[in-house]
Amino acid sequence: MTGVFDMQGFTIPASAAPFAPPAGWRALSPEYDPWDPIRSLQQYGRHELTSVELTVTHLCNMRCEHCAVGDSLTMTEAPHIPLDLLFRRLDEVEHLETISLTGGEPTLREETVRNILLPILKYARARGVRSQLNSNVTLDYERYERIAPFLDVMHISFNYTEAEDFHRVGFARSGNKIRYEAVEKLYERMMDNARKLSEGGLFVSAESMINFRTHGKIALIHRLIDEMGCKRHEVHPMYPSSFASDLPVISRDQMREAVTSLLNERNPDIWMLFGTLPFFACSENPEEHRLVKRLAAETNVTVRNDPDGRNRVNVNIFSGDVYVTDFAAIPSFGNVKDEKLDDVFARWREHPMQQAVNCHCPGAGCCGPNLLVSDMYYRDTDFRNRRALP
Ligand code: SF4
Repeated sequence: MTGVFDMQGFTIPASAAPFAPPAGWRALSPEYDPWDPIRSLQQYGRHELTSVELTVTHLCNMRCEHCAVGDSLTMTEAPHIPLDLLFRRLDEVEHLETISLTGGEPTLREETVRNILLPILKYARARGVRSQLNSNVTLDYERYERIAPFLDVMHISFNYTEAEDFHRVGFARSGNKIRYEAVEKLYERMMDNARKLSEGGLFVSAESMINFRTHGKIALIHRLIDEMGCKRHEVHPMYPSSFASDLPVISRDQMREAVTSLLNERNPDIWMLFGTLPFFACSENPEEHRLVKRLAAETNVTVRNDPDGRNRVNVNIFSGDVYVTDFAAIPSFGNVKDEKLDDVFARWREHPMQQAVNCHCPGAGCCGPNLLVSDMYYRDTDFRNRRALP
């Protein structure tokens, strides 16, 4: 094969798009999703830590009304822990397969891009670990262009059908009124950036939430995501955490109807990834059970079990604190200054909160509900007494 060596020494075919992954790396696909905890559960016979999420900033240029970490956003950044310590802790994670970088908006400061994002992404490439960056991609294209050659998944949020939605939703919690004209420019730049990154060969995955605003127009949102060239559309219920905790919650019926409309109207060439849905193979509700079966049978559709606390922990790179999710409600379980991540995870695995949703039906490929969703829709249900129905 003719090719060139990139900065990490990986061969890249001469014809490859600039942001394509290194030659020989397995493509991410419905058959290969290393973030799904069911894989490590199947491989090791119990939940193992294979995924680390790093909170790399508390700054953001937006203030979305549904932001699950909104209360932790700040106006100035604290000093971060030494990257040497972080890399040592990552080195010690025996089964590490993925690293996710999240915020805030990780690309807001040029310094963060240069001193934090790029070194971590290069670490991941050198170790053969897959990476994801959660970004709103509303900033200058140049900063995404610098990151893209080292990144596996650019994960964006997209819950809009027009700039007015973006203005209403994305800046709802901004103290100062943000002018519509300025927001409209950001909206267009976000779409342009997503399009250009996709054209460059990057795996852009757009996430939408199903909530009181989007449940009736989720198929239209999907069409715009398709037009931006995204390779995957991720769909989750809204998590009732932080800024979102006071927003109206939709019923399971409304959620089911939204998922059904998406399945009916989706572009079948785009991978649809549903996460943390409140529908399970053990459901005795016939309509929900039918939907679960349909989701399992559709081509290019996957339902990902929730990684938080199953195969993933979150590390705050400013305090060193380790959480089972980046959402604020569950307190820290340890700190990388004192402990190995595998040891913190082992402690969490035995915790009553984790045990309460620790069910597994291998035939259904299911390992139980997400803690927040279970609290929202199944307060009186003990999943450990349930089994997948035929
Ligand atoms: S693993 Fe749990 S949630 Fe999933 S089908 Fe089985 S009992 Fe239900």
